Amino acid sequence: MWGDGLDAEEKKAHLISEGKIFIPQETRLPFPLSKSTAGPGAGSAAIALGFGGTRVKLAVNREPSRFSLALKASGGYAILDGGKPFIENVQVLKNPAHAPEQCFVNIHSHCIFNCAFCNSPRIREAGRKPEQVADFIVKTCKENDFRAVAITSAVPETIDKQADEFIFVIREVRKTLPNVIIGVEPYAETREQIRRLKEAGADEIKLNIQAATSGILAKVCPGFDYEKSLALIADAVQVFGKGKVTSNIIFGFGESDENVLECAEALAAASCIPTLRALRVNDLNRASLKEALGFEPEAPSPERILRLAEAQKKIMEKYGLTTKSMETMCCRCLCCDIVPFYDL
Ligand code: SF4
Ligand code: SF4
Repeated sequence: MWGDGLDAEEKKAHLISEGKIFIPQETRLPFPLSKSTAGPGAGSAAIALGFGGTRVKLAVNREPSRFSLALKASGGYAILDGGKPFIENVQVLKNPAHAPEQCFVNIHSHCIFNCAFCNSPRIREAGRKPEQVADFIVKTCKENDFRAVAITSAVPETIDKQADEFIFVIREVRKTLPNVIIGVEPYAETREQIRRLKEAGADEIKLNIQAATSGILAKVCPGFDYEKSLALIADAVQVFGKGKVTSNIIFGFGESDENVLECAEALAAASCIPTLRALRVNDLNRASLKEALGFEPEAPSPERILRLAEAQKKIMEKYGLTTKSMETMCCRCLCCDIVPFYDL
């Protein structure tokens, strides 16, 4: 029996909670593994897999672990759970720029902030010049026929300088690819920065609230203020429109379900799509999370991931929101979260 009767979403919740997959050295892959410099898998080799109308991205383990990828005798791939059948038909997804079917680039990894969960500043990778980023986007979109572009960045110097770099990249890309949809995931401190991004040609924006409560945000992202972030997200909805603004709430920092759902409701009430993201704990962020929180957090359980996603869907319905209105970034990628409303 494949996966003991669990549906695709339930299987995905188990995979997200585990966060990694063992790929034996001898297992041939159709594409090289990617290594992200942003997002939950930053710093480790990762693989994007498609199954049952959804996708998942997992860190690749070279030591045996709970889940493993197997090449079937008939060709094609399967996922095994403890060596037993778990998902029968799995596609290894082409992922030339971080997310399947879109060109998602990170300008800088170095950051003046020090969020406890974030691996980007710990990767020590040299940032790219905005000109190089724009060239890469144009080339990747042309080669792969992508119509979705997404841009993120850490903050190496100031938020204003970061905004200028986003604007430069957006304008350069727009010159050559006027019809792509561009999503941006910047840090912002003023409504003016958000307005300038829209004016430059961005279509969608992701401004992350990061944690469910102001107290937890103060511990895990001491450089950010919860109420100010909420106000900027509401400003972003005014500028970009309902359904074109999304925000990550990471859960697993010791908050309650009620905390997560209150935050999701506050975002939805402002017409922002809440993205519920299970914390990933790994060798790069374990010590800093423990120091910030005072305990070592664990990845949320599959049951909690599914329970929160169900409640998220109800909140979004109440406020007339759907993830389908987003055409870039995480709502479209599907790899890291249970994404209500979306299937491929
Ligand atoms: S602002 Fe925080 S989450 Fe964002 S890149 Fe910097 S350290 Fe990471
Ligand atoms: S869901 Fe978001 S963070 Fe995860 S791989 Fe896709 S684009 Fe990156």
